[in-house]
Amino acid sequence: MPIYEYKCRSCGHQFEKIVKMSEAPDCESCNSPDLEKLFNAPGIRTTKSQNRSSAQERASRSRVHKDIKVAESDFLKKELSHDH
Ligand SMILES: [Zn+2]
Repeated sequence: MPIYEYKCRSCGHQFEKIVKMSEAPDCESCNSPDLEKLFNAPGIRTTKSQNRSSAQERASRSRVHKDIKVAESDFLKKELSHDH
């Protein structure tokens, strides 16, 4: 379950959200569905953060997303138990 980064075209608000496959979120700030999706998988950062060391980045992200990681692994366990 990837984390996506969104930027609202309407108000410019930028936020990260865990999104299921075909789910399209609305802006957290103004509820506009007109969002620009900036793909953002855990551990993979776009050019804007390459100045920071990857270890530093991982440390801060793992703190912030600790709960998300737990939820994510629970989700994956359920997913993997399905027979595709
Ligand atoms: Zn907005």
